[in-house]
Amino acid sequence: MAEEIKKRTTYLSRGALKPRAYVGDGLKVTFRTLVRTTIHRPNTIQYPWETLVKPECYRGRPGITLETCIACSKCVKICPNKCIEMVPIDHPTLGKVKRPQVNVARCMMCGYCAEVCPTDAMIVTPEFELAAYTRSALMYDPIKLQHERKPGYIVHSPMVTPSEMKSGRTDSHDKGDMAIKDTVQLDSRKCISCARCSKTCPVGAITMTDTGELNPKTNKPVKKPVFDDNKCVSCEQCVDVCPKSCLSMKEAM
Ligand code: SF4
Ligand code: SF4
Ligand code: SF4
Repeated sequence: MAEEIKKRTTYLSRGALKPRAYVGDGLKVTFRTLVRTTIHRPNTIQYPWETLVKPECYRGRPGITLETCIACSKCVKICPNKCIEMVPIDHPTLGKVKRPQVNVARCMMCGYCAEVCPTDAMIVTPEFELAAYTRSALMYDPIKLQHERKPGYIVHSPMVTPSEMKSGRTDSHDKGDMAIKDTVQLDSRKCISCARCSKTCPVGAITMTDTGELNPKTNKPVKKPVFDDNKCVSCEQCVDVCPKSCLSMKEAM
């Protein structure tokens, strides 16, 4: 048996090979391939004259619908390549607003921005042929980033929480479900009632509410923020603007 294996794994010297073996066998393979690829279609295609049909859920460069974006910056925070930033635009119907700009040269087309977008304003498009002569041409400002929408371009990744998984439940939660939504926590002892959080919230989920107490210095009613968790999109903008760091996010999972 060992002898047999040794025989099979030992290369023969060129001199020991018969001409038929090193010329004839090679030519046989060449002609067989030539005939096969002439009669049958090859596996490769003549790109760019031919292209493959892409599925509708193909993840190419991101695209946006400016009207449904709420400027929450969640796409900016999630982007692993840090290629999104919020820039001001002067839109004919929306007025002066901030919307995402994407550096497509750095985008790895992961689709996380579309997945995290609470309003599905950010989508993935089938565009992947993005070559340009300058780097600046690959900076897609909000106007250039716009793209038509189709159902397959919207990214939703339903999730099952770890506790549900342990208990054997398989029903999943879509984006926005309370079971998977991070919520804002307030440390009211630190709050100075400046209302910056409620002014910043892009969805109006924070209401400055009368606590029934009076400020001993100004003799005015003390107001504290109250959060509407159903409206909140967990963007953390209120946490970022609070001057006394009295807000934090409570992670759902
Ligand atoms: S697809 Fe991924 S890498 Fe590209 S902009 Fe969106 S989050 Fe960033
Ligand atoms: S996550 Fe969506 S809604 Fe928020 S800024 Fe980005 S595109 Fe706009
Ligand atoms: S309450 Fe805070 S985290 Fe929630 S949407 Fe408003 S700013 Fe964002």
